[in-house]
Amino acid sequence: MGRPAIEEDTMRFPTNPGVYLMKSESREIIYVGKAKNLRNRVRSYFRNIDNSRYRIRLLMSRVEDVDFIITDTEKEALILENSLIKRHKPRYNVNLKDGKTHFSLKLTISDNFPRLSLVRKVKRDGARYFGPYSSSNAVKETLKTISKTFGIRTCSDPNFKNRVRPCLRHQIKMCLAPCCGLIDEAGYRKSLEGVTLFLEGRNQELSKVLRKRMKDEADDLNFEEAARIRDQIFSIEETLERQKVVSNLRIDQDVFAFYGQGGEMELQVMIMRTGRVIDNRPFSLTDLELPDEEVISSFLKQYYGEDRFIPSEIVVPFEMEDRKLVEEWFSEKKGRKVRIHSPKKGERLDLLKMVTENAKNSFIRRQSEQGLIMKTLEEIKERLHLRKVPGRIECFDISNTSGRLAVGSMVVFKEGRPYKDGYRRFRIKTVDQADDYGMMYEVLSRRYGRVSEDLPDMVMVDGGKGQLNVATMVLKEAGGLDLDAIGLAKGEGGDKVFIPGRRDPVLMRENSRAMLLLQQIRDEAHRFAITYHKKLREKRNLRSILEEIPGVGSARKKALLKHFGSLKGVKSASTEDLVQVPGMNTEVAGNVSHFFRALQFNRSR
Ligand code: SF4
Repeated sequence: MGRPAIEEDTMRFPTNPGVYLMKSESREIIYVGKAKNLRNRVRSYFRNIDNSRYRIRLLMSRVEDVDFIITDTEKEALILENSLIKRHKPRYNVNLKDGKTHFSLKLTISDNFPRLSLVRKVKRDGARYFGPYSSSNAVKETLKTISKTFGIRTCSDPNFKNRVRPCLRHQIKMCLAPCCGLIDEAGYRKSLEGVTLFLEGRNQELSKVLRKRMKDEADDLNFEEAARIRDQIFSIEETLERQKVVSNLRIDQDVFAFYGQGGEMELQVMIMRTGRVIDNRPFSLTDLELPDEEVISSFLKQYYGEDRFIPSEIVVPFEMEDRKLVEEWFSEKKGRKVRIHSPKKGERLDLLKMVTENAKNSFIRRQSEQGLIMKTLEEIKERLHLRKVPGRIECFDISNTSGRLAVGSMVVFKEGRPYKDGYRRFRIKTVDQADDYGMMYEVLSRRYGRVSEDLPDMVMVDGGKGQLNVATMVLKEAGGLDLDAIGLAKGEGGDKVFIPGRRDPVLMRENSRAMLLLQQIRDEAHRFAITYHKKLREKRNLRSILEEIPGVGSARKKALLKHFGSLKGVKSASTEDLVQVPGMNTEVAGNVSHFFRALQFNRSR
């Protein structure tokens, strides 16, 4: 549909609130927006298009169709817009994902004895999630502090249900052992309240609650419990000492500020609880095509859309067009009033300036790191006589045990950094003996044998001339793909780089930035392949190990796997469930259950 036809079509759009979806020629959703009046909003894009902002012109030049979904209210449209952005990740909307893996803590609040665990993904499963934390060390440290202070369980549900004795964590005072009734539900819930306050950063409140509880326990002559709470208070106050007070408002605030240039933005969120800074989270946004106000507004909705703790006050650098609506939505989610401020003076403005300064420093640091990476990539181009600067590199490796359980890996580095969304792993199908070249041939053919939009600037293989020859052969077979290829092989006296048409390796300084980057990429491909291979090996070993359990032969093994669908299912089944499997009896079911519990115990040590 051309632009006049789309414009004419929008005349038929309803005037209700709703969400509109702009689509490209290939029917891909490239922008999602919400409107109070769908017809007016979408038609506004076509009015005065030549005088509109460059980014809107760019977006409109790609739009080939516009669809809409009607909602009852504008607030419903806001919520739907947010979930559609999350689902489709349209090219011209802001995407919260910043390429880093974030870890969160999950608290299964609906269980009688909730469990706290470390997770990568936040799901809508009724559990409470805290975080995300910017590094796995930070989250592991937090988990350790919580275990030591509050004794909340971290074990899996099957393990919890089948315990007859507390595990090691109880002996080292990291768990109250609810598995064996060493604490009742009410007592456990009290510890849990402390965990929630701690994770929300409300340490002062927590300290007050604990002090009162300690006094009550001492008054009731429960000195052992009072002493336990005293230790909790010490630990909390140690954390409090490390957190600087920066606001006299002494309320819970998240302050958002940014610094950006040319479609790149460093956004920072300073998290303050009762006036103390408890965390500072940076987000790097790239390829932005929207005005800054829209970026911040969209970011905010996605940020809190993910079941995250919402403070009573959010400070942003701009007045948001739909502030009232967003406040209403967040207040509903929180169950208490949430205010969004865009201060012009006073203490909130000072906070905003402070976060902006942090964002600016991170932006400059990131730019100079990027400058260094660009120089390194240019050096690789020069040294290896490439046609292009290798902005996107794909590297391949093979892993197997004498030809068995053979796998291949492909890792992608964009602008010198791992791009994990692009990683692929391959289970070798056509080669069943130790034939590295044959395996490499299969993996590369599966990658380049099909038409792909995301072709790399450089293909890299772990290996020397032989592997490199395979790569060049596959690229030729795939319709003469005009891509540079290299091989990086381990050799005497260090790694060697091979390029096509040259017998000897290219001389590269061992500690040069270019060489270090190539080694980093090769090592990542190796790590990725070996992890997959080990996983398969472990799975196979466990499957065959099933037969080593007293009373389990090939027939019972088959029946167990069939009944529970997988080894994982067998592992997490209770003795009662195991008895239900055709051909099983109580004794053998007990053996299976005991076997997996012992395995888990040994692993947790
Ligand atoms: S099994 Fe260990 S971690 Fe789980 S509840 Fe019992 S003592 Fe705590």
